[in-house]
Amino acid sequence: MDYLPIFLDVRARPCLVVGGGSVAARKLALLRRAGASAVVVAPTLVDELQALAGEVELRQRPFMDSDLDGMTLVIAATDDAAVNAQVAALAKVRGLPVNVVDTPTLCSFIMPAVVDRSPVIAAVSSSGRAPVLTRLLRARLETLIPTAYGRLAELVGGVRGRVRERISDPIARRRFWEDTLQGPVAELALSGQQERAQQLLQRLLERVGPSTGVGEVYLVGAGPGDPDLLTFRALRLLQQADVVIYDRLVAPEILDLVRREAQRIDAGKRASQHTLPQEDINALLVRLAREGKRVLRLKGGDPFMFGRGGEEIATLAAQGIPFQVVPGVTAASGCAAYAGIPLTHRDHAQLCVFVTGHLKDGSVDLPWPQLVALGGTLVVYMGLGALTAICDALIAHGRDATTPAAAIAQGTTLRQRVVIATLADLAHRAQDLDGPALIIVGGVVGLHEALAWFAPQTPDASA
Ligand code: SAH
Repeated sequence: MDYLPIFLDVRARPCLVVGGGSVAARKLALLRRAGASAVVVAPTLVDELQALAGEVELRQRPFMDSDLDGMTLVIAATDDAAVNAQVAALAKVRGLPVNVVDTPTLCSFIMPAVVDRSPVIAAVSSSGRAPVLTRLLRARLETLIPTAYGRLAELVGGVRGRVRERISDPIARRRFWEDTLQGPVAELALSGQQERAQQLLQRLLERVGPSTGVGEVYLVGAGPGDPDLLTFRALRLLQQADVVIYDRLVAPEILDLVRREAQRIDAGKRASQHTLPQEDINALLVRLAREGKRVLRLKGGDPFMFGRGGEEIATLAAQGIPFQVVPGVTAASGCAAYAGIPLTHRDHAQLCVFVTGHLKDGSVDLPWPQLVALGGTLVVYMGLGALTAICDALIAHGRDATTPAAAIAQGTTLRQRVVIATLADLAHRAQDLDGPALIIVGGVVGLHEALAWFAPQTPDASA
């Protein structure tokens, strides 16, 4: 982060705006909305500012050093770069926060675009890089956050102390609020029925019983990498969980979406180098849920596709722990889509088989004759390590050595690399790829040239 976002209390504090034009007037209006006791200094003032005589202290003359005396914060909004620079320099000497409109290099703070649902305030900034983007984002937030959100926040603020008294356990308390803020109380408050909302909230609070003590486990697919491929439910649960246990395949961009206060546990499984053995993960899920936590087990792709998701929930089911499973976009779908390789096609493949190329006792244990006899598209997960053996075995059992074959590494991310070859030379051509990588074999791979659309602009990407 280039800046620390904070919300500053300026109520009744003297704040200086240097400048008398419409930009200065806009900044002044914002300061006044936040309750500041604003002062304006400029030799000429637009009508809009003149009209505020009596309500705002107007110093109609050029800026002087002494204007900074007693100020809490300064905004320079003149059209004279020299004056702006002078204000910035003097303010900095005095250690006063200063903003120079449209000149980030002179600022000690910058002003975000604001969505005001007071007391809820959303502020957006591009760190001065792309103001238009910031405005567009603000417009989206405006449509996302109902105007009545402020009322809801007032309602919550009014009973917070009582809720804290009644529900002492912090996890139970947060859950109470999450349920309340997403249920009928919120609906009533948002539709303007403040009193009924308050009564219902009161009733719910009286009804709060001792918690059952058992939490819940969510087994969630994180998709192949691109965070936009998460499901809505996955995102919602990521933002509710108390603990997130994730594995190595989960992209950092997705971990960024986890609720900030949630505990994160890296179960980082690497082939043959398990940081946390599977049994320990199963036991950990049970233990955390027994502590009453909402535990989110986050897995790359889809949890039921070569993800050992079944084993993890089998333990939960046996122990009577409530759980739910959220599917994710599996690597085959994600990589195929982002590499422009349809997995089936009327002319090339009537069927598609997913296999794992994971080595067992040093060799790939797959029913080669049957796979070759089926034809169609073959997708190999975890096949990079044994790629030579896999390609050789397919050829040895009768698949044509010229069959198109692809290796897609870090599919759907900005680091995606695609190697297109034939069964005969794929292993050689893909030797520099960094995993995770998916292998696709079959006529459909030939469609890549015509259908590829995703070209991440990174220096080492070969699409
Ligand atoms: N449950 C996961 C698969 C886990 S097995 C899913 O549904 O996708 C791990 C293998 O998945 C990796 O070895 C690789 O073959 C494949 N994989 C996962 N993410 C990938 C990605 N972004 N790009 C390419 N392959 C990926």
